[in-house]
Amino acid sequence: MFRSQCPACGAPLNFQSAASTFAVCSYCSSTIVRKDEVLESLGKIAQLIDDASPVQLGAQGVYLTQAFQVIGRIQYHYDVGVWNEWHVMFASGRTAWLSELNGRSTMTFLQEGSQELPAYEQIKPGLQLTLQTQLYEVAYLAQARVVSGQGELPFAIGAGYEAPVVDLRGVGHPGFASLDYSDRAAPRLYLGLDVPLAALKMSGLRQERLKELKADSIRALQCPNCGAAVQVNRADTRSITCAACHSTLGVEVEGIALLKKYEKAEFTEPPIPLGQVGVLEGSTWTVVGFLQRYVEEEGTRYFWDEYLLLEETSGSYAWLTSDSEGWKFGKTLEAVPEVRGQTAIWNKEKYSLTEKGNALTDYVLGEFNWRIMQGERASYRTYKRGNTVLSMEKTASEISWSCLEEISPAGLSAAFKIKVPPVGGGSGFSGLSMPASGLGSAATVGDAISTPFKRKGSGWAIFYIILIIIFLIWVLSRNDCDPRVENCSSSSYSRGFSSGYSSGSGSHK
Ligand SMILES: [Zn+2]
Ligand SMILES: [Zn+2]
Repeated sequence: MFRSQCPACGAPLNFQSAASTFAVCSYCSSTIVRKDEVLESLGKIAQLIDDASPVQLGAQGVYLTQAFQVIGRIQYHYDVGVWNEWHVMFASGRTAWLSELNGRSTMTFLQEGSQELPAYEQIKPGLQLTLQTQLYEVAYLAQARVVSGQGELPFAIGAGYEAPVVDLRGVGHPGFASLDYSDRAAPRLYLGLDVPLAALKMSGLRQERLKELKADSIRALQCPNCGAAVQVNRADTRSITCAACHSTLGVEVEGIALLKKYEKAEFTEPPIPLGQVGVLEGSTWTVVGFLQRYVEEEGTRYFWDEYLLLEETSGSYAWLTSDSEGWKFGKTLEAVPEVRGQTAIWNKEKYSLTEKGNALTDYVLGEFNWRIMQGERASYRTYKRGNTVLSMEKTASEISWSCLEEISPAGLSAAFKIKVPPVGGGSGFSGLSMPASGLGSAATVGDAISTPFKRKGSGWAIFYIILIIIFLIWVLSRNDCDPRVENCSSSSYSRGFSSGYSSGSGSHK
C-alpha cells in the first residue's frame, strides 16, 4: 500500500493497488493522478448520482474462490439510467471490474495483449467474435458517459468522458465479455462471467440504503401528457404507462418524460390484469407489464400477447406469452444458443427454426425495467423442440434470447386464480390469428374473437366474417411453403410466436 496525502486538501490518501494511477479524494472530491510517488491534483470531479446500488467502497466478497475488496468506482450514465463499474482488488493483488445493475452483475478482467478488435462502427447486435479462443455474440451497445468516480482507479477519468461500450454473451458457454471504446484506436477487452450479486457473498453492503430504497422506490410523479398522478413502484422502472391517458412515459433519474401518446380511442384490458399474483415453478410472480404485438404479412396482422412477470424477493423477471397456439412461460437466457443454419443448439439439444419476421409492439401497459415504446420494431426468430421454444429478438442496439415452455390454460388459471382464455392473440382482427387446425371450424373462430380482446360494436361481427372468408380463400390458395423452414405445412398459417422480449437496460451488465 502506498500512503500519502491529498495534494489539494491534505487528507490521507492511500493506494492499495500498485496498478492504481488515479484516485478521487473522498474528502474534497479532487481527482488525483499518481506519477511514481508524486501526487498531482487535476481538479474536482462532479458529484455521484445517488443510485440504487447496494455496493460501496470497502465492501468485500468472494468470486469463485477468491476474496476481493471494492477499491474504486466509475459511475456511467447511458440512455436510460446510470450504472456502476466497481474496481475490485483480489488478495493476490489482481484487479477486476464488478459491473452491477439491478441485482445482476458481471465480473470481468482486462485482457492485455494483441487481440484484434473490430472498429466500433462495425459492431452491431448479433455480430460474433472469437475472443481468446471462445466465441461471443454482441448482445448490447450503449453510448455511455462518465458521471463521476470514487476511490482508486487504474486510469484517469473525467465527467462527461464518452465511453461507447459493448456487451457480449458467450455462445454456448457462460462467458461474458465487454469492449470499451473510450479510446477508439485502442479498445479495451474485458472477459469474465455473469454472476448474480447474491452469489458473490458480499459483506459491507449498504443495507440501510437497501431498506431506504424499498421505502422510497415508490415515487409519485405527474403524467406530462394529462397531468394525472403516476405511481412508480420500483427502483428499476425505466418506463411506465399512465393509467389515465395510456401514454408511455420514460422514468428518468429525476422526473419523467413523455415517450409516446396513446392515440387510440379504446384500450385493452388484459385477460390477466396487472397486479395479479400467481405461483409458477415454485416462485410467486406478479404481472407488472403487458404488451400486445403483431407481425404483418400480406396486409394481415397476427397478434399475440406478452406479460412481464416479476418475482419480488429476487427482483428477477419472467415472461408469459399467449398466442393462437396457447400459453408459454419462460425467461431470458444469459448465454447465447449456437446457431447452425436453421438449427439452434441449446444445452446440447437441437431446436428447429419455425418462424421469422418483424414484430411490432402495438400496445403497452404497466411498468417496465427497460425503455419500452409503442410502435417499436424488432426482428425475431423462433426455434422449436417439442413444447419448448427458443426465441431471438433483435433491435438496433440489442439482441436477446429467451426460452419458453408450454403451459396449459387450466394450470395457468389455477396458478393465477383467474380464468384465462385457452388461446390469446390479439385485439381487432384476432379471429384471423388461429391455429391451422382450427381453420374451417366456426367454433374456433368464434372462440378466438370472443376473448376479452373483442372490440365493442356488433358491426364488427360482419366485418370479421368477411375477413375470415377472405382469409380462408387466401389460405386455400396459398401453397408457398418456404422449404428452408421445417414444419412449414403445420405452422406457416399459425403465427404462433412466443417472443420473449427482453429488457434493454436490465440486460446491460
Ligand atoms: Zn482532498
Ligand atoms: Zn396521462
